[in-house]
Amino acid sequence: MASATYVGRLAPSPTGALHLGNVRTFMIAWLRARSLGGRVVMRMEDLDHPRDKAGADAAAVADLRWLGFDWDEEYVQSKRKDLYREAISRLESAGLAYPCVCSRSDVEAAQSAPHEGEQLFYPGTCRGRFGSWEAAAKAIAPRVPCWRFRTPEGAAGDVEFDDIFAGRFGQCVPRTLGDFPLARDEGGAGYTLAVVVDDAAMGVTEVVRGGDLLAATPAQILLQRALGLPTPNYCHVPLVVGPDGRRLAKRHGDTRVCAYRERGVAPERIIGMLAASCGWCAEGESHSLSSLIPRFTLATIPHAPFTILSGSRFFAP
Ligand code: GLU
Repeated sequence: MASATYVGRLAPSPTGALHLGNVRTFMIAWLRARSLGGRVVMRMEDLDHPRDKAGADAAAVADLRWLGFDWDEEYVQSKRKDLYREAISRLESAGLAYPCVCSRSDVEAAQSAPHEGEQLFYPGTCRGRFGSWEAAAKAIAPRVPCWRFRTPEGAAGDVEFDDIFAGRFGQCVPRTLGDFPLARDEGGAGYTLAVVVDDAAMGVTEVVRGGDLLAATPAQILLQRALGLPTPNYCHVPLVVGPDGRRLAKRHGDTRVCAYRERGVAPERIIGMLAASCGWCAEGESHSLSSLIPRFTLATIPHAPFTILSGSRFFAP
């Protein structure tokens, strides 16, 4: 029986062209929602200014539509800054957000062990250091402080949850990330804060996204708790990787949707190839996205990352 209450989301970042890795994750997210009779929210995550590329947002939307995706609501994060600012002031009033004047190299220098991934451990250098944002801003002008979240002491910092695909996952956030950043400047918002505020505001009941974000989830859950927001279900699915086992990138050949499209490849072939990688059909079959709704199941998706041998090898004419 269809559930009218399921709300899922597609959350592209306009940092480059949509490629097969993004499409596979979005395909799983979209089919999961539609097979449960749910709604789909499309949210453009365009807050990462140094990495965002002009025009990549419209191009991603065009590629998604061409592939057969649709959605019920559409949002753009850069137009929602008031909501993020309001969340920061609520956290600040509760003593849970503080200004930090450390630069990235200060934080890098404070690492006690080499750190994998992008998130650095922050040892709390500026915790309790400044009485107000203005005082911190004055101390490092013309540089601008960032906002950090005061992670809880003791057991409250240990977060465990049951991921629908990846299983039980736990992390002690204060020891893994420390007081993670909320915003790069006074009013902006970083990824963690924006995702938490938006998932709640948009009524998202389940987050289906790439497995690279599994380890970012405990911090999001802590922030939900601090803001009194519900925690959605999580379903982290394996990434698409190149032959070297690394996340799909340019060096693995051209796997951009727009490149296939320009070469005259039908969207059904791309969707069919990715559907085969999820165990829903045989290799070489063509399928439209919506025709896969009855075939969708998480059960046949391999737990190992899907390895693409050569992006340009696919769909030879
Ligand atoms: N915008 C993020 C990305 O493209 C996904 C964020 C999320 O799903 O929470 O990697």
